[in-house]
Amino acid sequence: MAKTVLITGATRGIGRACALKFAQQGWNVAACYARSQEAAQTLAQEIEQYGVQFLCEQADVRDAAAIRRVVSLAQAHFGTLDAVVCNAGIAQQKLFSDITEEDWDTMFDVNTKGVYRVIQAALPLLLEQQAGSIVTVSSIWGQTGGSCEVHYSASKAAVIGMTKALAKELGLSGIRVNCVSPGVIDTDMNQLHGAEVMEELAEETPLGRNGAPADVAEAVYWLASEQSRFVTGQVLGVNGGFYI
Ligand code: NAP
Repeated sequence: MAKTVLITGATRGIGRACALKFAQQGWNVAACYARSQEAAQTLAQEIEQYGVQFLCEQADVRDAAAIRRVVSLAQAHFGTLDAVVCNAGIAQQKLFSDITEEDWDTMFDVNTKGVYRVIQAALPLLLEQQAGSIVTVSSIWGQTGGSCEVHYSASKAAVIGMTKALAKELGLSGIRVNCVSPGVIDTDMNQLHGAEVMEELAEETPLGRNGAPADVAEAVYWLASEQSRFVTGQVLGVNGGFYI
């Protein structure tokens, strides 16, 4: 029987690449996004070629009821979940002294509490089968700290803490929890930097380029799959050597 993955933020960038990777490997994909309905439809057409089932719903990770609805739909369509990829996230560049309380709260509401909401909603399905793999998506800045991204860095560092603690709590239930920590990846999120800065970042990277969404999707897929069956509580950097 085909396996099923739930991916948040699958309409663009890394989440989209993950959806395509899992579909290519024969997994059914349940997904959500915040606003990009058109991108969701295009993705559905692309996934169709792999002959798997695809369910993509508008559901903001800040809305617990909407996330529970996506999980229920996934259960109704696919029976259960085998993996959960908590990818949806936002970024913002601001001097620390300019970060408002609203900026701070929004950052944590999406990047950190969003992960909590998704895992809480999906966990009963994984516990029921005493198996499953959860992959969170942090960031290199959550490991090293990014200047002018204090709230983003803090929200992503918290995801690493959640991942490690949950891995300990869920191990005996047969559920693995790991984190992928991307470096600089060429997606819409990095448009805030501009082409010149992106080139500089590529030059600073030991592998000599910025990452592609598919580079991250390979690591996410590996952590979700049986290939990584004895790996839990780990943070896998996909950063071209930018942070070693
Ligand atoms: P992206 O291109 O901006 O795509 C973000 C995705 O998340 C979109 O599908 C978006 O949906 C969805 N999303 C955003 N807010 C959401 C919300 N409140 N509820 C549900 N979905 C939401 O970003 P990306 O670069 O692929 O980043 C994906 C993840 O990787 C993020 O967690 C990010 O922090 C992390 N990351 C990225 C980089 C990088 O260099 N790009 C580096 C390190 C970590 P819509 O299309 O509907 O807006």
